[in-house]
Amino acid sequence: MTYRRVGSAGLKVSTLSFGSWVTFGTQMAVDNATKCMQAAWDAGVNFFDNAEVYAGGESERIMGQVIDELGWERRSYVISTKFFWGIHEGVNLKNTLNRKYLLDAIEGSLDRLGLEYVDIAYCHRPDAETPIEETVYAMHDMIERGWATYWGTSEWSALEIREAYEVAARLGLRKPIVEQPQYHLFHRDRVENEYASLYKDFGLGLTTWSPLASGLLSGKYLDGVPADSRGSLEGYEWLREGLGDVERNDRVRQLIKVAESIGCTVAQLAIAWCASNPNVSTVITGASKPQQVVENLAAIDVIAALTPDVLAEIDRIVS
Ligand code: NDP
Repeated sequence: MTYRRVGSAGLKVSTLSFGSWVTFGTQMAVDNATKCMQAAWDAGVNFFDNAEVYAGGESERIMGQVIDELGWERRSYVISTKFFWGIHEGVNLKNTLNRKYLLDAIEGSLDRLGLEYVDIAYCHRPDAETPIEETVYAMHDMIERGWATYWGTSEWSALEIREAYEVAARLGLRKPIVEQPQYHLFHRDRVENEYASLYKDFGLGLTTWSPLASGLLSGKYLDGVPADSRGSLEGYEWLREGLGDVERNDRVRQLIKVAESIGCTVAQLAIAWCASNPNVSTVITGASKPQQVVENLAAIDVIAALTPDVLAEIDRIVS
């Protein structure tokens, strides 16, 4: 494994990391989650991503229990969670980044994780109804109270991130260090174009999500939706159409040939491709089975095989 700084912050995370969306609490309980996290740890992963809303809080509970059972020293890993959607019904409890919600939500997350602090607290989506000063101040206070070490955003526009950064700088508050955007071979624009000035101006880091486009880029949807895949889960019907997209699967077929030519799987190719972007601090991988973790994290050795010629061929296929 290699380790990269989160943008210009001093914090270092493994180039490939591991997250629990969809899987923890929905597809797996503590036993399999333990196997996956152990496999990630054995491969050198030090960053584990979570969110308050994943499986209604169950994902944080499982991850906390796994870490406790594995006996990892708190200082040895980096863990994150995210806030916006909320897990309780009522005014000020959902779809907000107001101060009341944020300072309450972090306490719930820490309780479920069984931790005294998280390393990165993210604002999971922007909130047009809360003044940015209020959100930045609440994230600053979260850090000052010792509940988070750094803060960041997820799926904010470049303008929104710039505004948060400038408000923090103006008021002498903790600045966001990182954005968590979707980034994979079929979803590139924001990371490669919209955010370009933020890397230069603020040293923004990126912890990118869904490197396999929810599994599509593993090639498992070429001939329909397998019964044991994310695409067949109840409640994720909204993903199914995209996973079965004929044109995208045709491109995956072509990517498989490129992967074969450099001796890796197409999943490894897709993950390594994300990591080949120097603005990416870490690629957050996901898995429903321990063997997927092992396969995906071996992508670290594929990055060097992505020569300019290979990258050009990949570009040709996905453009
Ligand atoms: P991927 O796009 O890599 O999808 C992971 C899923 O693909 C697995 O759960 C598995 O699903 C399938 N898969 C993974 N590896 C393989 C393989 N080698 N062969 C075949 N199938 C495979 O990542 P995620 O969408 O899970 O996102 C990763 C992480 O990013 C999340 O856990 C979360 O931490 C973060 N995230 C953040 C978001 C945000 O808004 N900030 C949004 C979404 C994710 P199955 O076996 O069930 O088919």
